[in-house]
Amino acid sequence: MKTSFDYITENYKRIFDAVGEAKAKYRSPDDRVDIMAVTKTVAPEAVNHAISCGIKLLGENRVQEYESKKGFYDSSAKVHFIGNLQTNKVKYIIEDMELIQSVDSLKLAAEIDRQAKRFNKIQDILIEVNIGGEASKGGIEPERLEELLYDVSQYENISVKGLMTIPPPGGDEKFLCRMQQIYLDISSKKMDNISMDILSMGMSGDYAKAIRYGSNLVRIGTALFGARVYN
Ligand SMILES: *Cc1c(COP(=O)(O)O)cnc(C)c1O
Repeated sequence: MKTSFDYITENYKRIFDAVGEAKAKYRSPDDRVDIMAVTKTVAPEAVNHAISCGIKLLGENRVQEYESKKGFYDSSAKVHFIGNLQTNKVKYIIEDMELIQSVDSLKLAAEIDRQAKRFNKIQDILIEVNIGGEASKGGIEPERLEELLYDVSQYENISVKGLMTIPPPGGDEKFLCRMQQIYLDISSKKMDNISMDILSMGMSGDYAKAIRYGSNLVRIGTALFGARVYN
């Protein structure tokens, strides 16, 4: 039986064009926006097809699922962890991750620093911000962000590269706008050992808007791979 992933090719083209359009409209010509494929529930064959279309970044949500799939992934793509990460699972993924985007506590950062030392690496991370103040979601409250950044900046084996957020559903632009302001505000403070290179914001429903508000990394699941049967 021949399986066809043509729909992924089509979806990728549509997303690539929409990202280009949003960039042309809202950003300066040499701004870069990376498209990440979010792989949760998606078979490795489909993920590899997306890589063959031009995807260079994979986003992983679950440690166990990643462990079971990673051996099948085309190794040309870099992998980021974007899901809720328990401290006791850091050791399973840290070797493979170019970036851990979902750091929202000093406790998690401390464990990442400890494990990074063991693996002799400097682990790049983003701090996740709970921009909508939703109790059900991870991320640090905006009011406590600067303190957390300062504390995390003290760790030798961690390098903070920017911020990540998952805004409340509904697409209200005020959250995207507020996140951009926070990102620019932190950038302008030029804190030691903190760089603001990456603003990871925007998913299938709001990526064009997110690019308008300064995102340079959009995380796309459904629009690329189709609806997930389960989460
Ligand atoms: C699932 C997920 C996405 C992608 O969501 P879609 O709406 O399917 O594009 C992006 N970021 C995170 C952190 C996710 O868990």
